Amino acid sequence: MSDTKTEETERAAFVRGLRRRGAKDELVLRAMELVPRALFVDPGLRQHAYDDVALPIACGQTMSQPSVVVEMTEALAVTATHRVLEVGTGSGYQAAILAHLAADVVTVDRYRSLVADAQARFQVLGLRNVAALVADGRGGAPARAPFDRIMVTAATPEVPRALFDQLKPDGILVAPVGDPASVQHLIRYAKSPSGISSTTLSAVRFVPLLEGLSATL
Ligand code: SAH
Repeated sequence: MSDTKTEETERAAFVRGLRRRGAKDELVLRAMELVPRALFVDPGLRQHAYDDVALPIACGQTMSQPSVVVEMTEALAVTATHRVLEVGTGSGYQAAILAHLAADVVTVDRYRSLVADAQARFQVLGLRNVAALVADGRGGAPARAPFDRIMVTAATPEVPRALFDQLKPDGILVAPVGDPASVQHLIRYAKSPSGISSTTLSAVRFVPLLEGLSATL
């Protein structure tokens, strides 16, 4: 971006749009204003960076629609002391938003190239509390566990058991649950001494949570 002023004006309008669509959490909105989504999109799609649309990224993956990023982030109820795990780094955009809200963020993806690109973006933005790792997120990030909050950004019929195991006793996990080939629902799970309760949020479409690391990219 050569014209920083225009980019900032665009971001302010972007946040006004998110507010109109129901975003309420001021800290989440502040994070959405601070993170330049333009840095995370494919250069050929730059003109759509601040539209409320999901966009294709490398490796045949997709970055979420901003209003879905807001809904998931609000549902996660992150505070400044939290350690957060994200499964599905993709572009790194959602992790950058979480990094503005949490103490520490670990994000994992099965594509090496996506992890490398996301790390480069975090560096450009000076985000030092977020680490991107190559891993099959179905197993979480055991070396970094436990987590106060876990967000899954890939569709799964069932949340892998390891993720609940790596969630602290009063933790919250948000994931798109359902048929990866069609529609899923965002589910917010809350762990407590009496077990795990769940609340169903919006209908969404995410790319699937797949098994194992990518062999090529
Ligand atoms: N949160 C991202 C978008 C996620 S797209 C963003 O803000 O841009 C879903 C991502 O989940 C893809 O990058 C895909 O490679 C990743 N993914 C799918 N299965 C996975 C698995 N088992 N472990 C880790 N990442 C996985």
